[in-house]
Amino acid sequence: MIEIDGSRGEGGGQILRSALALSVLTGRPFRIEQIRARRKKPGLMRQHLTAVRAAARVSHAALSDVTVGSTVLSFAPQGVVAGHYEFAIGTAGSTSLVLQTVLWPLLAAAGESVLVLTGGTHNPMCPPVTFMEHALLPLLATMGADVTLSLERYGFFPAGGGRLVARIRGSTAWRPLELLTRRGDVSVRGGAQVAELSEKIAHREVRVLKDKLGLARDAVTVETVKSIGPGNIVQAFVQSEGLCEVFTACGERGLRAEQVAKRVVGQVRQYLASDAPVGPYLADQLLIPLALAGGGTFRCTEATPHLHSNAEVVEMFLPVRVQIDEGAGAAQVTVRGVS
Ligand code: AMP
Repeated sequence: MIEIDGSRGEGGGQILRSALALSVLTGRPFRIEQIRARRKKPGLMRQHLTAVRAAARVSHAALSDVTVGSTVLSFAPQGVVAGHYEFAIGTAGSTSLVLQTVLWPLLAAAGESVLVLTGGTHNPMCPPVTFMEHALLPLLATMGADVTLSLERYGFFPAGGGRLVARIRGSTAWRPLELLTRRGDVSVRGGAQVAELSEKIAHREVRVLKDKLGLARDAVTVETVKSIGPGNIVQAFVQSEGLCEVFTACGERGLRAEQVAKRVVGQVRQYLASDAPVGPYLADQLLIPLALAGGGTFRCTEATPHLHSNAEVVEMFLPVRVQIDEGAGAAQVTVRGVS
């Protein structure tokens, strides 16, 4: 039984999600204590509970009694089974993060899976579905993974109600990834979306993107999207050869539209100030696929606490070593198989 201290490093939900994914994949049981100990509301929130139950469902796992607020759990999977699964978070909790929990094992399973996830699709502090679509999945495709997403309805905090359908082909033959430099011409596009709010908000946001990032008029879009409650996001897509980085800010009550857009501008400027191809969020999310491919290397703009804690969890379950070399303005991450 692998014992995990959920308060280590970043101390958030990712330690739990990665442990669930890798446990299902490897068949190795684990016990985790101090779940999300470094978060304002420690323990399982509804989104994490859904991830735990989803992992248990796809692998017929034996699971200790868990509920919202639980800080300890033990999990013993059987083999992963491809199939049609529906997971409803019941709040605006992130559908992408529930998806990332079962994605890696379902990519290994024999057969195709279809997941229908309801909840939030664009949440602060989580990968928005558009980030998964444009940044993460194309890289996974180059590594041999076949996943398609269909965002059927947006879900924002607090109403939720978004709907995401994922199709995942199993039996993936992973290929290693090497992503050391940003290649080719770099172009930036921006977009702002609103649901149940005035489109003027989105127009003010893209004006900031255009002015501060020097974007042409046709490099920005404004869109009203369907959702069961109000919401707003601003995103920038930075395209280089073979890689699209996506930076996002979510509108908040009481935060001016211009400030929301400036949060995106800040992230884009920080990214462009470095010559590393991988941004801070992609970096931690690439560790599991690199480990499944048995190796690979990339340079990222920074080595976040998420990157370090995810590396620790990956090394607990898989026969790999993750080396993180931090330099000025960039870090190089190398995953190597060990026998
Ligand atoms: P945790 O805080 O432990 O629940 O983990 C959050 C996960 O969401 C990490 O994998 C982050 O890289 C990811 N994440 C947070 N914000 C963003 C964002 N704006 N874009 C993409 N991924 C994000």
